Amino acid sequence: MSNKRFTLALHGGAGAKRGHDYSVEIAHMRGLVEAARQRLAAGASALDVAVETVVALEASGLYIAGKGASPNADGEYELDASLMDGATLRAGSVAALQGFESPILAARAVMERTPHVMLAGEGAMAFAREQGLKTIADPATWFTHAGAFEANHAPNVLPTGTVGCVVRDAEGRLAAATSTAGVFGKLPGRVGDSPIIGAGAWADGHAAVSCTGQGEYFIRTAVAAQIAHRVRFGGERLEDAAQAAIQGVADLGGHGGLVAVDRDGNVAMPFASSGLKRAALLPDGTIVAEAF
Ligand code: ASP
Repeated sequence: MSNKRFTLALHGGAGAKRGHDYSVEIAHMRGLVEAARQRLAAGASALDVAVETVVALEASGLYIAGKGASPNADGEYELDASLMDGATLRAGSVAALQGFESPILAARAVMERTPHVMLAGEGAMAFAREQGLKTIADPATWFTHAGAFEANHAPNVLPTGTVGCVVRDAEGRLAAATSTAGVFGKLPGRVGDSPIIGAGAWADGHAAVSCTGQGEYFIRTAVAAQIAHRVRFGGERLEDAAQAAIQGVADLGGHGGLVAVDRDGNVAMPFASSGLKRAALLPDGTIVAEAF
């Protein structure tokens, strides 16, 4: 394929349930892919487009991330996010962040303005405040899914709804970004795969991956880095590598899905769950958006 060909894929979580109408989310995701396509055609970098797309997913309140976050078992909102720039292997992440509108912007600030990769809890909040990132005045009125925990809680089910985006830009650079409120009813302080570089997000010169699902299983099988390494060291096709990694999650009893792109612009969006809200700009220029 021509080096100028850019592609991307995004997701709104593996928590799609059969019988539910996701037409609003599907239209929203399609619109974001169209906006991203314009940005990429104008020469925007994979990293900028991945971050902008995740900011929009967070701000929509439609998914279990950003404004749509669900509370933990104590009723607190602890959010996680991460990103990785495949061209430089720089990465940033925040875990258990409270009180800020956009965790992905906090993760980007960690990457760009500290010598660290990951900040958690109080330290992450102090840093985000210092960076002047937008705060939330009142969680009870800000979050669209306040109360959703009670409605959805069933022991050990851990329902999900993370957002993420992976991009291959016109220069062939790759980037990944992931943002979440984690699983419903999680224990205070619980951190899932989304802010763990190599588990919930990864980008290098070969592949970029963003995951969603029961994070514990994605950490235990290092899904995001595993896919890139299968492609790089095993010579596997992106689609086969992504399918094998998601099968590894299923084999342990977990569920979830992911979106991935490789350096040639191929896109893979496998899932082992009831559905995966997802959209993509494919190498042939078509846009797909679906939940099942
Ligand atoms: N993977 C996320 C976590 O475990 C949840 C999700 O994808 O919705 O925190």
